[in-house]
Amino acid sequence: MNKRILTGDRPTGPLHLGHYVGSLQNRVKLQHEYDTYVLIADVQALTDNFEHPEKLGDNIFQVALDYLAVGLDPEKVKFVVQSMVPELTELTIYFMNLVTVATLERNPTVKEEIKQRNFVKGVPVGFWSYPISQAADITIFKADLVPVGEDQLPMIEQAREIVRRFNRLYAKVLVEPRAMLGAVARLPGTDGGAKMSKSLGNCIYLGDSSEQVRKRVMSMFTDPTRIHPTDPGHVEGNPVFTYHDVFNPDKAEVEALKERYRKGTVGDVEVKQKLFAALDSFLAPIRERRAEFAAQPKRVHEIIIEGTRKGRAVAQSTMNEVRTAMKITYKFE
Ligand code: ATP
Ligand code: MG
Repeated sequence: MNKRILTGDRPTGPLHLGHYVGSLQNRVKLQHEYDTYVLIADVQALTDNFEHPEKLGDNIFQVALDYLAVGLDPEKVKFVVQSMVPELTELTIYFMNLVTVATLERNPTVKEEIKQRNFVKGVPVGFWSYPISQAADITIFKADLVPVGEDQLPMIEQAREIVRRFNRLYAKVLVEPRAMLGAVARLPGTDGGAKMSKSLGNCIYLGDSSEQVRKRVMSMFTDPTRIHPTDPGHVEGNPVFTYHDVFNPDKAEVEALKERYRKGTVGDVEVKQKLFAALDSFLAPIRERRAEFAAQPKRVHEIIIEGTRKGRAVAQSTMNEVRTAMKITYKFE
Protein backbone atom coordinates (compact mmCIF):
# COMPACT_ATOMS: atom_id res chain seq x y z
CA MET A 1 0.00 0.00 0.00
CA ASN A 2 1.20 3.50 -0.82
CA LYS A 3 2.29 5.77 1.97
CA ARG A 4 -0.10 8.57 2.78
CA ILE A 5 0.03 12.33 2.70
CA LEU A 6 -2.37 14.51 4.64
CA THR A 7 -2.20 18.26 4.61
CA GLY A 8 -4.65 21.08 4.20
CA ASP A 9 -5.69 24.69 4.20
CA ARG A 10 -8.19 26.82 6.04
CA PRO A 11 -10.91 28.12 3.71
CA THR A 12 -10.53 31.68 4.97
CA GLY A 13 -9.80 32.95 1.46
CA PRO A 14 -8.22 31.87 -1.80
CA LEU A 15 -4.66 30.50 -1.73
CA HIS A 16 -1.53 32.59 -2.30
CA LEU A 17 2.12 32.29 -3.31
CA GLY A 18 3.08 31.31 0.26
CA HIS A 19 0.84 28.26 0.05
CA TYR A 20 2.40 27.37 -3.26
CA VAL A 21 6.04 27.35 -2.20
CA GLY A 22 5.30 26.15 1.32
CA SER A 23 3.09 23.19 0.53
CA LEU A 24 1.18 22.99 -2.77
CA GLN A 25 4.30 22.46 -4.87
CA ASN A 26 5.24 19.35 -2.85
CA ARG A 27 1.71 18.03 -3.03
CA VAL A 28 1.75 18.29 -6.81
CA LYS A 29 5.18 16.69 -6.99
CA LEU A 30 4.31 13.76 -4.70
CA GLN A 31 0.71 13.06 -5.75
CA HIS A 32 1.69 10.08 -7.91
CA GLU A 33 3.82 8.47 -5.21
CA TYR A 34 1.61 9.00 -2.17
CA ASP A 35 -2.03 8.30 -1.46
CA THR A 36 -2.88 11.96 -0.90
CA TYR A 37 -5.69 13.55 1.14
CA VAL A 38 -6.04 17.32 1.27
CA LEU A 39 -8.25 18.68 3.99
CA ILE A 40 -10.24 21.86 3.46
CA ALA A 41 -10.26 22.77 7.13
CA ASP A 42 -13.50 24.68 7.61
CA VAL A 43 -13.90 23.62 11.24
CA GLN A 44 -10.44 24.97 12.05
CA ALA A 45 -11.23 28.15 10.10
CA LEU A 46 -14.24 28.66 12.39
CA THR A 47 -11.98 28.82 15.45
CA ASP A 48 -11.17 32.43 14.61
CA ASN A 49 -14.05 33.14 12.19
CA PHE A 50 -16.97 31.81 14.22
CA GLU A 51 -18.71 35.15 13.93
CA HIS A 52 -18.62 34.91 10.14
CA PRO A 53 -19.49 31.34 9.20
CA GLU A 54 -20.98 32.62 5.93
CA LYS A 55 -17.40 33.19 4.67
CA LEU A 56 -16.59 29.51 4.52
CA GLY A 57 -18.89 28.04 1.87
CA ASP A 58 -17.61 30.06 -1.05
CA ASN A 59 -14.03 29.82 0.14
CA ILE A 60 -14.22 26.01 0.17
CA PHE A 61 -14.99 26.29 -3.53
CA GLN A 62 -12.18 28.84 -4.07
CA VAL A 63 -9.61 26.63 -2.35
CA ALA A 64 -10.70 23.63 -4.43
CA LEU A 65 -10.28 25.76 -7.56
CA ASP A 66 -6.76 26.67 -6.45
CA TYR A 67 -5.91 22.99 -5.95
CA LEU A 68 -7.08 22.16 -9.46
CA ALA A 69 -5.38 25.25 -10.89
CA VAL A 70 -1.92 24.32 -9.57
CA GLY A 71 -2.27 20.81 -10.95
CA LEU A 72 -3.57 18.52 -8.20
CA ASP A 73 -5.16 15.65 -10.10
CA PRO A 74 -8.62 14.87 -8.68
CA GLU A 75 -8.26 11.30 -9.91
CA LYS A 76 -5.38 10.89 -7.47
CA VAL A 77 -5.87 13.43 -4.73
CA LYS A 78 -8.86 13.42 -2.41
CA PHE A 79 -10.21 16.87 -1.48
CA VAL A 80 -11.89 16.39 1.90
CA VAL A 81 -14.17 18.90 3.65
CA GLN A 82 -13.40 18.73 7.36
CA SER A 83 -16.92 19.37 8.70
CA MET A 84 -18.24 16.49 6.59
CA VAL A 85 -16.07 14.02 8.53
CA PRO A 86 -17.62 14.06 12.02
CA GLU A 87 -15.25 11.27 13.15
CA LEU A 88 -12.60 14.01 13.38
CA THR A 89 -14.54 15.65 16.19
CA GLU A 90 -14.73 12.40 18.13
CA LEU A 91 -11.00 11.73 17.82
CA THR A 92 -10.24 15.32 18.88
CA ILE A 93 -12.16 14.77 22.12
CA TYR A 94 -10.20 11.58 22.91
CA PHE A 95 -6.92 13.35 22.14
CA MET A 96 -7.79 16.17 24.53
CA ASN A 97 -7.04 13.82 27.42
CA LEU A 98 -3.53 13.23 26.14
CA VAL A 99 -2.37 16.87 26.08
CA THR A 100 -1.75 19.16 29.04
CA VAL A 101 -2.77 22.78 29.30
CA ALA A 102 0.89 23.70 29.78
CA THR A 103 1.85 22.07 26.50
CA LEU A 104 -0.83 23.99 24.62
CA GLU A 105 0.32 27.21 26.23
CA ARG A 106 3.87 26.67 24.98
CA ASN A 107 2.93 26.30 21.30
CA PRO A 108 4.91 29.14 19.66
CA THR A 109 2.78 29.41 16.51
CA VAL A 110 -0.48 29.63 18.44
CA LYS A 111 1.08 32.22 20.77
CA GLU A 112 2.11 34.33 17.78
CA GLU A 113 -1.30 33.98 16.11
CA ILE A 114 -3.11 34.95 19.32
CA LYS A 115 -1.06 38.15 19.42
CA GLN A 116 -1.86 38.93 15.78
CA ARG A 117 -5.55 38.24 16.05
CA ASN A 118 -6.06 40.34 19.12
CA PHE A 119 -9.25 38.57 20.26
CA VAL A 120 -11.28 41.28 21.99
CA LYS A 121 -13.35 38.94 24.14
CA GLY A 122 -10.45 36.68 25.09
CA VAL A 123 -8.95 33.65 23.34
CA PRO A 124 -11.59 31.06 22.36
CA VAL A 125 -10.84 27.58 23.70
CA GLY A 126 -11.39 26.26 20.18
CA PHE A 127 -8.64 28.43 18.77
CA TRP A 128 -6.21 27.79 21.57
CA SER A 129 -6.63 24.04 21.27
CA TYR A 130 -6.61 23.76 17.48
CA PRO A 131 -3.28 21.90 17.52
CA ILE A 132 -5.20 19.00 19.08
CA SER A 133 -7.87 18.91 16.39
CA GLN A 134 -5.15 19.22 13.79
CA ALA A 135 -3.43 16.18 15.28
CA ALA A 136 -6.73 14.33 14.79
CA ASP A 137 -6.86 15.51 11.16
CA ILE A 138 -3.42 14.13 10.44
CA THR A 139 -3.63 10.89 12.35
CA ILE A 140 -7.13 9.80 11.38
CA PHE A 141 -5.70 9.43 7.87
CA LYS A 142 -2.61 7.63 9.24
CA ALA A 143 -0.51 10.10 7.30
CA ASP A 144 3.21 9.42 7.01
CA LEU A 145 4.05 12.78 5.51
CA VAL A 146 2.66 16.30 5.98
CA PRO A 147 3.86 18.94 3.48
CA VAL A 148 3.59 22.27 5.32
CA GLY A 149 5.08 25.69 5.86
CA GLU A 150 7.40 26.38 8.77
CA ASP A 151 4.65 27.79 11.02
CA GLN A 152 3.18 24.29 11.16
CA LEU A 153 6.21 22.51 12.63
CA PRO A 154 4.98 22.82 16.24
CA MET A 155 1.66 21.28 15.13
CA ILE A 156 3.38 18.25 13.64
CA GLU A 157 5.47 17.88 16.77
CA GLN A 158 2.28 18.00 18.84
CA ALA A 159 0.71 15.34 16.64
CA ARG A 160 3.78 13.10 17.04
CA GLU A 161 3.62 13.41 20.83
CA ILE A 162 -0.06 12.49 20.85
CA VAL A 163 0.57 9.45 18.65
CA ARG A 164 3.36 8.19 20.90
CA ARG A 165 1.19 8.66 23.95
CA PHE A 166 -1.86 7.00 22.39
CA ASN A 167 0.08 4.03 21.04
CA ARG A 168 1.81 3.47 24.39
CA LEU A 169 -1.38 3.77 26.44
CA TYR A 170 -3.85 1.86 24.30
CA ALA A 171 -2.46 -0.02 21.30
CA LYS A 172 -0.25 0.66 18.34
CA VAL A 173 -2.92 2.01 16.01
CA LEU A 174 -1.68 5.44 14.92
CA VAL A 175 1.19 6.48 12.67
CA GLU A 176 3.77 9.11 13.66
CA PRO A 177 3.74 11.74 10.89
CA ARG A 178 6.76 13.57 9.50
CA ALA A 179 6.69 17.21 8.37
CA MET A 180 8.01 18.10 4.94
CA LEU A 181 8.93 21.72 4.38
CA GLY A 182 8.55 23.37 0.98
CA ALA A 183 11.15 25.02 -1.25
CA VAL A 184 10.57 28.12 0.88
CA ALA A 185 9.68 27.34 4.47
CA ARG A 186 8.14 30.76 5.08
CA LEU A 187 7.50 33.23 2.28
CA PRO A 188 7.41 36.85 3.53
CA GLY A 189 4.45 39.11 2.81
CA THR A 190 4.38 41.95 0.28
CA ASP A 191 4.57 44.26 3.31
CA GLY A 192 7.93 42.75 4.30
CA GLY A 193 6.26 40.97 7.25
CA ALA A 194 7.62 37.58 8.23
CA LYS A 195 4.81 35.58 6.62
CA MET A 196 2.48 36.01 3.70
CA SER A 197 -0.87 35.18 5.28
CA LYS A 198 -4.53 35.59 4.40
CA SER A 199 -5.26 37.07 7.81
CA LEU A 200 -2.61 39.75 7.33
CA GLY A 201 -3.73 40.99 3.90
CA ASN A 202 -0.18 40.94 2.49
CA CYS A 203 -0.74 38.36 -0.22
CA ILE A 204 -0.43 37.77 -3.92
CA TYR A 205 -3.16 35.26 -4.68
CA LEU A 206 -2.79 32.45 -7.21
CA GLY A 207 -5.96 33.64 -8.91
CA ASP A 208 -5.08 37.36 -9.04
CA SER A 209 -5.46 39.04 -12.42
CA SER A 210 -2.40 40.42 -14.21
CA GLU A 211 -3.45 43.91 -13.20
CA GLN A 212 -3.84 42.96 -9.51
CA VAL A 213 -0.43 41.28 -9.49
CA ARG A 214 1.12 44.38 -11.05
CA LYS A 215 -0.44 46.64 -8.44
CA ARG A 216 0.60 44.42 -5.55
CA VAL A 217 4.17 44.14 -6.83
CA MET A 218 4.56 47.85 -7.55
CA SER A 219 3.42 48.72 -4.02
CA MET A 220 5.67 46.15 -2.34
CA PHE A 221 7.84 46.99 0.61
CA THR A 222 11.56 47.13 -0.32
CA ASP A 223 14.57 48.50 1.55
CA PRO A 224 13.41 51.13 4.06
CA THR A 225 16.93 52.59 4.36
CA ARG A 226 17.04 53.48 0.69
CA ILE A 227 15.59 56.85 -0.29
CA HIS A 228 17.02 57.52 -3.79
CA PRO A 229 17.66 54.99 -6.55
CA THR A 230 21.31 56.01 -6.39
CA ASP A 231 21.65 54.97 -2.72
CA PRO A 232 23.33 51.59 -2.21
CA GLY A 233 20.52 49.18 -1.29
CA HIS A 234 20.07 46.01 0.76
CA VAL A 235 19.20 42.80 -0.99
CA GLU A 236 19.05 40.52 2.07
CA GLY A 237 15.73 40.71 3.86
CA ASN A 238 14.25 42.66 0.94
CA PRO A 239 11.08 40.78 -0.06
CA VAL A 240 11.29 41.93 -3.68
CA PHE A 241 14.58 40.05 -4.01
CA THR A 242 13.29 37.09 -2.01
CA TYR A 243 10.49 36.77 -4.57
CA HIS A 244 13.00 37.19 -7.45
CA ASP A 245 15.05 34.33 -6.00
CA VAL A 246 11.99 32.10 -5.79
CA PHE A 247 9.98 32.97 -8.89
CA ASN A 248 12.34 34.41 -11.48
CA PRO A 249 13.86 31.54 -13.48
CA ASP A 250 16.38 33.92 -15.11
CA LYS A 251 19.11 33.63 -12.47
CA ALA A 252 21.56 35.79 -14.44
CA GLU A 253 19.03 38.62 -14.52
CA VAL A 254 18.48 38.32 -10.77
CA GLU A 255 22.22 38.37 -10.03
CA ALA A 256 22.72 41.43 -12.25
CA LEU A 257 19.84 43.24 -10.54
CA LYS A 258 21.23 42.43 -7.10
CA GLU A 259 24.64 43.75 -8.04
CA ARG A 260 23.23 46.98 -9.43
CA TYR A 261 20.95 47.38 -6.42
CA ARG A 262 23.84 47.05 -4.00
CA LYS A 263 25.77 49.67 -5.95
CA GLY A 264 22.83 52.02 -6.32
CA THR A 265 22.59 51.83 -10.09
CA VAL A 266 19.05 50.50 -10.41
CA GLY A 267 15.77 51.88 -9.08
CA ASP A 268 13.06 49.95 -7.24
CA VAL A 269 10.69 50.45 -10.17
CA GLU A 270 12.84 48.48 -12.63
CA VAL A 271 13.44 45.68 -10.10
CA LYS A 272 9.71 45.47 -9.47
CA GLN A 273 8.80 45.56 -13.16
CA LYS A 274 11.06 42.58 -13.78
CA LEU A 275 9.57 40.78 -10.78
CA PHE A 276 6.08 41.44 -12.10
CA ALA A 277 7.05 39.95 -15.47
CA ALA A 278 8.45 36.81 -13.81
CA LEU A 279 5.47 36.36 -11.50
CA ASP A 280 2.99 36.96 -14.24
CA SER A 281 4.45 34.26 -16.46
CA PHE A 282 4.49 31.88 -13.49
CA LEU A 283 0.84 32.64 -12.67
CA ALA A 284 -0.59 32.82 -16.22
CA PRO A 285 -1.11 29.06 -16.73
CA ILE A 286 -2.45 28.68 -13.16
CA ARG A 287 -4.90 31.52 -13.77
CA GLU A 288 -6.01 29.95 -17.02
CA ARG A 289 -6.68 26.51 -15.50
CA ARG A 290 -8.46 28.17 -12.59
CA ALA A 291 -10.84 29.95 -14.98
CA GLU A 292 -11.53 26.68 -16.82
CA PHE A 293 -12.62 24.95 -13.63
CA ALA A 294 -14.47 28.01 -12.31
CA ALA A 295 -16.70 27.72 -15.37
CA GLN A 296 -17.65 24.15 -14.30
CA PRO A 297 -18.88 24.51 -10.71
CA LYS A 298 -20.87 21.29 -10.86
CA ARG A 299 -17.77 19.30 -11.74
CA VAL A 300 -15.81 20.94 -8.89
CA HIS A 301 -18.61 20.11 -6.44
CA GLU A 302 -18.56 16.49 -7.57
CA ILE A 303 -14.80 16.34 -7.05
CA ILE A 304 -15.23 17.64 -3.49
CA ILE A 305 -18.08 15.24 -2.70
CA GLU A 306 -16.21 12.23 -4.06
CA GLY A 307 -12.96 13.13 -2.25
CA THR A 308 -14.83 13.66 1.01
CA ARG A 309 -16.62 10.32 0.64
CA LYS A 310 -13.32 8.48 0.23
CA GLY A 311 -11.70 10.43 3.05
CA ARG A 312 -14.56 9.68 5.41
CA ALA A 313 -14.28 5.96 4.70
CA VAL A 314 -10.63 6.05 5.83
CA ALA A 315 -11.60 8.05 8.93
CA GLN A 316 -14.34 5.58 9.87
CA SER A 317 -12.01 2.65 9.56
CA THR A 318 -9.36 4.32 11.76
CA MET A 319 -12.03 5.18 14.35
CA ASN A 320 -13.08 1.54 14.58
CA GLU A 321 -9.50 0.68 15.48
CA VAL A 322 -9.27 3.61 17.89
CA ARG A 323 -12.44 2.60 19.75
CA THR A 324 -11.29 -1.00 19.96
CA ALA A 325 -7.90 0.09 21.30
CA MET A 326 -9.63 2.32 23.87
CA LYS A 327 -12.07 -0.44 24.81
CA ILE A 328 -15.13 1.64 23.99
CA THR A 329 -16.79 -1.13 22.06
CA TYR A 330 -19.34 -2.08 24.74
CA LYS A 331 -22.20 -4.19 23.54
CA PHE A 332 -25.27 -4.11 25.77
CA GLU A 333 -27.11 -7.17 24.63
P1 ATP B 1 -4.80 32.09 7.75
O1 ATP B 1 -4.30 33.47 7.87
O2 ATP B 1 -6.25 31.98 7.54
O3 ATP B 1 -4.26 31.18 8.82
P2 ATP B 1 -2.67 31.24 6.04
O4 ATP B 1 -2.31 32.17 4.95
O5 ATP B 1 -1.80 31.16 7.26
O6 ATP B 1 -4.16 31.60 6.39
P3 ATP B 1 -3.26 28.41 6.16
O7 ATP B 1 -4.48 27.89 5.50
O8 ATP B 1 -3.28 28.62 7.64
O9 ATP B 1 -2.86 29.80 5.45
O10 ATP B 1 -2.00 27.51 5.79
C1 ATP B 1 -2.07 26.39 4.93
C2 ATP B 1 -0.69 25.84 4.63
O11 ATP B 1 0.08 26.78 3.88
C3 ATP B 1 0.15 25.53 5.88
O12 ATP B 1 0.92 24.39 5.62
C4 ATP B 1 1.04 26.73 5.99
O13 ATP B 1 2.25 26.44 6.67
C5 ATP B 1 1.31 27.05 4.53
N1 ATP B 1 1.64 28.47 4.38
C6 ATP B 1 0.79 29.51 4.57
N2 ATP B 1 1.42 30.68 4.40
C7 ATP B 1 2.71 30.37 4.08
C8 ATP B 1 3.87 31.16 3.77
N3 ATP B 1 3.82 32.48 3.77
N4 ATP B 1 5.04 30.52 3.49
C9 ATP B 1 5.09 29.15 3.49
N5 ATP B 1 4.04 28.37 3.78
C10 ATP B 1 2.86 28.96 4.07
MG1 MG C 1 -2.54 29.94 9.07
